[in-house]
Amino acid sequence: MTQATLPRGATIGIIGGGQLGRMSAVAASRLGYRVHILSAEPEPPAQDTSRTITVGAYDDEAVLRRFAGSVDLITFEFENISSAGLELLASLCPVHPAGRVLAISQDRILEKTFLGERNIPVAPWVSVPDEETLENAATELGYPFLLKTTRFGYDGKGQFRIADPETLARLAPELPYPLIAEGFVDFERELSVMVARNADGAMRCFSVTENQHRDGILDVSLAPARIPVSLAEEAEKLARQIAEEIGLVGILGVEMFVSSKGTLLVNEIAPRPHNSGHWTMDACLIDQFEMHIRAVANLPLPDPFRHSDAVMKNLLGPEGMAMCGTIMEHSGLALHLYGKSTCRPGRKMGHVNALFPLGALPGPYGVSARLDEALQDLQKS
Ligand code: AMP
Repeated sequence: MTQATLPRGATIGIIGGGQLGRMSAVAASRLGYRVHILSAEPEPPAQDTSRTITVGAYDDEAVLRRFAGSVDLITFEFENISSAGLELLASLCPVHPAGRVLAISQDRILEKTFLGERNIPVAPWVSVPDEETLENAATELGYPFLLKTTRFGYDGKGQFRIADPETLARLAPELPYPLIAEGFVDFERELSVMVARNADGAMRCFSVTENQHRDGILDVSLAPARIPVSLAEEAEKLARQIAEEIGLVGILGVEMFVSSKGTLLVNEIAPRPHNSGHWTMDACLIDQFEMHIRAVANLPLPDPFRHSDAVMKNLLGPEGMAMCGTIMEHSGLALHLYGKSTCRPGRKMGHVNALFPLGALPGPYGVSARLDEALQDLQKS
């Protein structure tokens, strides 16, 4: 069954009012749509760029009914909404991506099971529903291993590194069960692929991105990733397979590790625009936010036309904000701020994209490439 294209002038409802919603709303308005945000927090970043905002709880039935009644289509920038809430919304309005997709990505055990059943490689893992099952996980995986909360973990939150039996014994009584235990991957680098799919089944991927984290939070993304073409093709193939088999309508970020043996392991999937896709805002004619809106509206998904290589750096907390003045003085750098009124250490306040001619990125940058190195290089040129 083909789905009609969302007509221009229609209203897209976005659940969540953070920076991803803010930037999605800009893309939607460029395509002639109106945006209504549902945010649990007052005065969220997306308020500045949207026509309408409702502030209310994501589990309040009356709020969800009113919201669904005022929009033509619902999508997300935030995936932790209850399955009951998702079902209610879907009974009232088209919802993309579907609740099933969100349910899988919300729960690390469902996610790993979904991937494993399709022979998509993941790190070895064991379900740890309670304290009694911890020993078994340690025996199966060996040390070191990681424990992660099965739900609501992000940016390395809800993650515990278990180096040895002593650490395990010390933490065991206080851990937030249920957990998933994962073998520690001694990765060579981390990658992500953004893949978009519309209701007609058309798909499009952005160039494979290389990501460097600091304290569990994304610090720098480089595009394209400095990996052999064959590995990039394999990463894209995995992302397409996941998008197809999960029945994605929208955009999905697939995070992967390149193991020390050079093989790919999928870490997690996020069915929404993704921090590691922010470089597309300046290095492509169609960025990840527009691709997301096109996909949910069932519009064509042409080649995004990457015209430059790019380095993206997140601006975190006061330290990140302190860089704004320098960034603004340089050509070749694009500053994006999220309009957040409170600036806590580690909070994502904005990001900066540095552009380079196509093919220029792999040369001088090591695996620890940082924006300051990029800045120095820009000054020299
Ligand atoms: P996650 O919350 O699963 O996205 O993990 C956040 C970050 O922790 C990842 O980007 C990796 O840097 C690291 N990490 C997660 N899982 C593993 C693993 N199994 N082995 C090694 N590092 C990991």
